[in-house]
Amino acid sequence: MKTYDAIVIGGGPGGYVCAIRLGQLKQKTLCIEKEEVGGVCLNWGCIPSKALIAAAHTYEKMHSMGTMGIKVGSVEHDPNAMQDWKEGIVKRLTGGVRGLLKSNGADLMAGTAKIVSPNRVEVTKADGSVETIEATKGIVLATGSSTIEIPSFKFDGKQIIGAKEAVSLREVPKRMLVIGGGVIGLELGMVYQAFGAELVVVEALPTLLTGVDQDCVKVVERRIQKRGGKIYKNAKAMGYEKQADGSLAVKIDIEGKPETIVTDMVLVAVGMRPNSRGIGLENVGVNVDKRGFVPADEFGRTNVPSIYSIGDLSGPPMLAHKASKEGEIIAEVIAGHKAAKDWACIPGAIFTDPEIATAGLTAEEAQAKGIEVTVGKFPFAALGKAMAMMETDGFVKVVTDKKTKQVLGVHIVGPEASTMISEGALALEMAAFAEDLALTIHPHPTLGEAFMEAAAHAMGAAVHIVNR
Ligand code: NAD
Repeated sequence: MKTYDAIVIGGGPGGYVCAIRLGQLKQKTLCIEKEEVGGVCLNWGCIPSKALIAAAHTYEKMHSMGTMGIKVGSVEHDPNAMQDWKEGIVKRLTGGVRGLLKSNGADLMAGTAKIVSPNRVEVTKADGSVETIEATKGIVLATGSSTIEIPSFKFDGKQIIGAKEAVSLREVPKRMLVIGGGVIGLELGMVYQAFGAELVVVEALPTLLTGVDQDCVKVVERRIQKRGGKIYKNAKAMGYEKQADGSLAVKIDIEGKPETIVTDMVLVAVGMRPNSRGIGLENVGVNVDKRGFVPADEFGRTNVPSIYSIGDLSGPPMLAHKASKEGEIIAEVIAGHKAAKDWACIPGAIFTDPEIATAGLTAEEAQAKGIEVTVGKFPFAALGKAMAMMETDGFVKVVTDKKTKQVLGVHIVGPEASTMISEGALALEMAAFAEDLALTIHPHPTLGEAFMEAAAHAMGAAVHIVNR
C-alpha cells in the first residue's frame, strides 16, 4: 500500500494550494482529483467568467470611444473566438497548476476518493480499479461545492443552464432570464447583457446581493436598468412552459401576483451546495452540519483529528481566496508548525459592471454590534483619474468607529474596485485608523486617491468634496 504524510482530496484552489505548500514543507503529499485540477475556480468559475467579463467590459467601452475622440468603426463580437480564447487561458492555468504540484514534489492522482478510515482513502480510477492509500499525518477534504438545481427548472444544458454552461455559450441569447440576483446571476447576466441580451433578474429576497452594502448594490442595479434590464425582487420563479417558437414562458410570482415572462434562456444561479456526500464521511463519523458543510476549527480540523476540511466544504464565504488561505494554514499545521486562521477579514470582490468590493463590516453590521460609526465617502465623479477613464459611477466608503476612528469596513463600487480593496483588507489586518489611510500619500492621478479622500472625509477633512 502506498503511504504518504498527507492526502488532499480535491485539486481546486483550496486543495492544490494546500498540496503545493505541503510539498514545499517537505511533506510527502498526494493530491487526488476526479476531473481537472483547478476546480470550479479555474475550469468554469472565477477565471473563465473573468475572461468573459473583461471581454464584455472592453466591448462596452468600445462603444463610447467616440466621446474620447477615438473612431473605431463597427464593433462586433464573435462568441466562438471568445470561447476559444477563454479556453486557452484555462488550459494554460491548469497546466501551470500541474507543473507547480510536480515541481514542489506533490503527486497528483486521477480518480474519485472516499475515506475508509481516519487515515486511509480508497481511490476509484477511470478504468474501475480501486487502490487504498494511507496518510500518516492527515487527510485534507477539499471537495468544494456544486450548483444547486431547482426542481421546476431542471438543467437541460441548452435553455435551462447553470454557471458552468453560461461561461461556455457559443451563441448569445436574444433574451436571458436569471433566477437569483446573487453574485453569479449578476456577473454573468451582465456579460450577456453587454453583448446584447435582454436581461431579466428574478430575486426571491427584497434585495440583490443580500449582505453586501446596499449603496454599492444600487449603483450596479441602476446600470442594469439603464441598459434596459428588468429586476424583479421578492419574486420567485415557479416554472416554465416551452412555446411553439422554442421560447420559454417563465411563470413568476411577485409578492403574490402571478406574471409570465417570455425568454430564450434561463440561467439558474441560486447558490452552491457543499460536496460532502459520497466521500465516506459516515465511515469515520465526520460531523456534517444541517446545510451540508463540514465544519472545522481554527486549525482546519474536523471533529476527527486526522481529517481536515477546507474551502467551500468547510463553510461560507464560498470564495477561492478563503479556500487557498485555509489550504496554506492546514499545510503548516500538518507539517507541525504554529499556524491558525487568525485573519481580520476576508475581502470580497464582485465582478459586476461596475465592480463591487468589500472588506470588513458595513455600517449596518457595525451598528447592529452596538458600535457608533462615522462613514466617509468619496465619489469617483469627483476624481480626475476616473473622469479621464470615463468611469465615474461609484464611490469608496470607509466605515469607522465614531469614537476612535478605527477602520471597521471598506466598501467600494466603481472602476478597479476589486484591485483597490486590498488596501482596505490591509488596513483592517493592521487595525488602521482613518488617519493612517488619509495621511498616506497616494499618487496622483490614481483611483486610489478616492480611498485617501474617503478616509479623510470620515475625519471631516476631505479636500476635493464638501465635508458634512
Ligand atoms: P448567491 O448565494 O450569491 O446568490 C443566490 C441568490 O439566489 C440569492 O440572492 C438568493 O436569495 C436567490 N434565490 C435563491 N432561490 C431563489 C429562487 N427560487 N428564486 C429566485 N431567487 C432565488 O449564489 P450564486 O450567485 O449562485 O453564487 C454561488 C457562490 O459562488 C456564492 O457563495 C458566491 O460567493 C460564489 N461566487 C463568488 C464570486 C465572486 O466572489 N466574485 C463569483 C461567483 C460565485
